[in-house]
Amino acid sequence: MSQLRAAAARGLQRSRAVRSPGRSRKGAAPRGGGPAPAPAQPPAQHLFSDAAEIEAVRRNLLTWYDKCKRDLPWRTLAASEPDVDRRAYAVWVSEIMLQQTQVATVIDYYNRWMQKWPTLQALAEASLEEVNELWAGLGYYSRGKRLQEAARKVVSELAGRMPRTAEDLQKLLPGVGRYTAGAIASISYGQATGVVDGNVIRVLCRLRCIGADSSSPAVIDRLWDMANALVDRSRPGDFNQALMELGATVCVPKAPLCEECPVKQHCRARRRVEKELGLASRRLLGTCPPVPDVEDCGVGGCPLCPPATEPWDSSLGVTNFPRKAAKKQPRAARTAACVLERRGRCGAPQYLIVQRPSSGLLAGLWEFPSLPLALGLQEEKQRELLADHLQAWTGRPVAAGGLRYVGEVIHIFSHIHQTYVVYSLPVDGDVTLDPVSSPSRWVTEEEFHASAVSTAMKKVLKACEKQRGEQNGSGKVSKRKRGAKPGGAGSRPTGTQLSLHAFFRTPSPQ
Ligand code: SF4
Ligand SMILES: [Zn+2]
Repeated sequence: MSQLRAAAARGLQRSRAVRSPGRSRKGAAPRGGGPAPAPAQPPAQHLFSDAAEIEAVRRNLLTWYDKCKRDLPWRTLAASEPDVDRRAYAVWVSEIMLQQTQVATVIDYYNRWMQKWPTLQALAEASLEEVNELWAGLGYYSRGKRLQEAARKVVSELAGRMPRTAEDLQKLLPGVGRYTAGAIASISYGQATGVVDGNVIRVLCRLRCIGADSSSPAVIDRLWDMANALVDRSRPGDFNQALMELGATVCVPKAPLCEECPVKQHCRARRRVEKELGLASRRLLGTCPPVPDVEDCGVGGCPLCPPATEPWDSSLGVTNFPRKAAKKQPRAARTAACVLERRGRCGAPQYLIVQRPSSGLLAGLWEFPSLPLALGLQEEKQRELLADHLQAWTGRPVAAGGLRYVGEVIHIFSHIHQTYVVYSLPVDGDVTLDPVSSPSRWVTEEEFHASAVSTAMKKVLKACEKQRGEQNGSGKVSKRKRGAKPGGAGSRPTGTQLSLHAFFRTPSPQ
């Protein structure tokens, strides 16, 4: 649900760029030229223009929502919090967390966040480290950072008062786009403004048979117009949530539950499927002359119908809508990561983690010492590069042969297909990395999980622990050769604590 929500936001950004070339979010003047010509009205098939139908859609959807809505903590807060700033803050946090993330995952994070920082003021006083720690595992870490930056801005520049309209929320708060602003304003303030996220895109495209690329600026613009026209004037927040809820639970991407849908009688995709089925059975019975299939809206070159190159596919039914341009494949990347492990008090393992730079991917998060690798390197070469890297960090020579190969861990970021080539290095002395390059610290397993570490790094540690468990459990040492998959290559005898001195040789005098 939330990935689609982000797609809508991305489409919107493109849309704004098309409509207002050269205009930034801060309101710089448009460059050159007069006003763009008004876009032609799309064919009626793709619109909601009948007032009685709009009323019926609102009524049916709200009745269904009142009966079927999920009980979610942010909904409870939005309904019960009397203070308008607190209410807007509570909705804002939920909307940011829900971008790119499933509801089921968000609930626990949301509850912990609101318990720790129940107000904007509390969040503004938190450190980025604390924010990252709580956000750890939720992904897309810049969201938490931006949320906190915006909270600080509200406290320091707006006297702690949230902007009171969707337009001002979008204009004044960094990281708040049109969707988030509309959601906060409609749910917290009752402003009659629509929202368009991935779920809304799907529902509206099906209701109105919109088959053109749903991430294109032209289609996104139309959907916003439609959402603004449809939104219930007296219960805008509930209506918007109902539309999103319908997309999340009934009008789902692959197998929509049309029979349970409260707006099925207004759904043109469903009507088209029914017509096609009727025609097909009449043809079978020989009672129908050989007429052409049910057509699109009938307007040649319609910008909202499916393109001629990808016509309606009867086998897909209502899931013909929406359609999106093919997604760009994520780029492949490889990184060597080394789990340095020592025995702490009572023999419990401790791990060395280092902090990433404060900007860029996974900004400010902690990770095992890592090194980006060129694609296509041999395992031996990777090992050497990692050893050199550790050597530069520690200021002591590191023998490549001392690195124990654990395996490969794959993690998909939104735009990167990341492979971590994992090594471990047991040590029995103290190792600190050059503090000039990155802060580093030793942590117990418990501290590791409570730190601001990414899900990818948790997978890396799990791979190490799995290897150790397998080896300890069998009581035997894997004899697989270096370069083999997890647990194999270059493995040293297990259960044996390797000495730091085995890997860090004293440099010979020059
Ligand atoms: S009838 Fe089916 S396709 Fe149409 S809006 Fe309802 S669930 Fe979606
Ligand atoms: Zn059309």
